[in-house]
Amino acid sequence: MVIVGAGPAGLTLANILRTAAVDCVVLETESRDFIEQRPRAGFIEEWAVRGLDRHGLADRLLARAPVHSECEFRYGGARHTFRYAELTGHHHYVYPQQFLVTDLVRQYADEADGDIRFQVRDVTLQDIDSEEPSVTYTDPETGRRRRLACTAIAGCDGARGVTRTCLPAQDTTLARHDYGIGWLALLAEAPPSSDCVVFGIHPRGLAAHMARTPEITRYYLQCPPGDTPDDWPDARVWSELHTRLAGAGARPLTEGRLIEKRMLDMHNYVVAPMTHGRLHLAGDAAHLTAPIAAKGMNLALNDAFLLADALIAHCTRGDDSGLIGYSAASLRRVWHDQEFSEWFAHLLHGPSSGDPFQAGTAVARLDRILHSRGAAVAFAESYIGKDADG
Ligand SMILES: Cc1cc2nc3c(=O)[nH]c(=O)nc-3n(C[C@H](O)[C@H](O)[C@H](O)COP(=O)(O)OP(=O)(O)OC[C@H]3O[C@@H](n4cnc5c(N)ncnc54)[C@H](O)[C@@H]3O)c2cc1C
Repeated sequence: MVIVGAGPAGLTLANILRTAAVDCVVLETESRDFIEQRPRAGFIEEWAVRGLDRHGLADRLLARAPVHSECEFRYGGARHTFRYAELTGHHHYVYPQQFLVTDLVRQYADEADGDIRFQVRDVTLQDIDSEEPSVTYTDPETGRRRRLACTAIAGCDGARGVTRTCLPAQDTTLARHDYGIGWLALLAEAPPSSDCVVFGIHPRGLAAHMARTPEITRYYLQCPPGDTPDDWPDARVWSELHTRLAGAGARPLTEGRLIEKRMLDMHNYVVAPMTHGRLHLAGDAAHLTAPIAAKGMNLALNDAFLLADALIAHCTRGDDSGLIGYSAASLRRVWHDQEFSEWFAHLLHGPSSGDPFQAGTAVARLDRILHSRGAAVAFAESYIGKDADG
């Protein structure tokens, strides 16, 4: 088995296969140091943590990650706490993605002696339609091309990888949704200024606050499409965050050095089917959700669980039913989360759309989840990912 990409999807898959004694090689273009420090996601849903734990992959996470049970909406100067764990019995675990990647690399490479090759170049796939596919790459030390023959390839190389491009266009559907806005993703060297995620829904645009560690906080600022980080000097960032996250009696934001300032082009996509011949995509390689509802890493983990079970059944029992059903099984949760992200995006961005109709319906959405128990339960289940569980 060759796994292309050592993100949450590829590394989780590699660990589960290794434990089941299924041979695999992981190929990664970046260095180990780089992937262990790359900050991205931070919130893992409880069902995903349970999945990691079932495979013995969550010991450090469970020992170190705080849980979050509520979020807060700030709108019109008022603060509204939303206690989703009370409604669902499920929490978020706050565990920065680079911590999870570090744990997964250590477990696979150091503890299980798994084969992982960093800083490879020019990965190409051959014969994915045949029973003997292979992957070639350039070895970073020798500069030589190397070829790995395998029984299957897992394309876990994220949104900018190569494996998705190997799916034949005539047999593949790419569904894409652009939000037509930008989000400035920020990391501040500052402690969180609230005990929970805060969404500041404001006529000037959304602002969001999310804890990462006791020393680091992630913030997001909605901005016009086409803006660049240069349009957002630090003083402007903090001024907008203070304005958009204002709320009666709220703790003032603690400012700190901005160590990441990155513009996100807010869009979603879904590739279907996620499998062609002996190539199976997983995670962002197959589907992207803008970080509006913090779903991407959770979906990547779900794919890894499903694909691992299917590949183990294929390799150990010759049972292909899991591989045949893999794409449909994954896409069920993917579409749930795509639909929820789009619904939530309207709530968060409507009041700054400049369109009074969009603003009115967005505020009605917020009002409904704050005042109707039925609506609150439905929102809470989607927010924590419990709706696609059954
Ligand atoms: C700012 C930000 C905040 C986010 N917040 C959240 C959140 O709170 N919750 C959440 O669930 N999700 C969040 N996400 C999304 C989450 O980070 C991704 O969905 C997740 O990383 C997907 O994991 P993956 O393993 O599919 O892909 P990736 O993590 O992208 O891993 C792919 C790997 O493949 C490697 N690679 C690429 N090309 C090749 C190649 N040709 N050959 C070999 N290797 C290759 C890459 O270097 C990378 O290591 C956030 C994303 C961003 C950008």
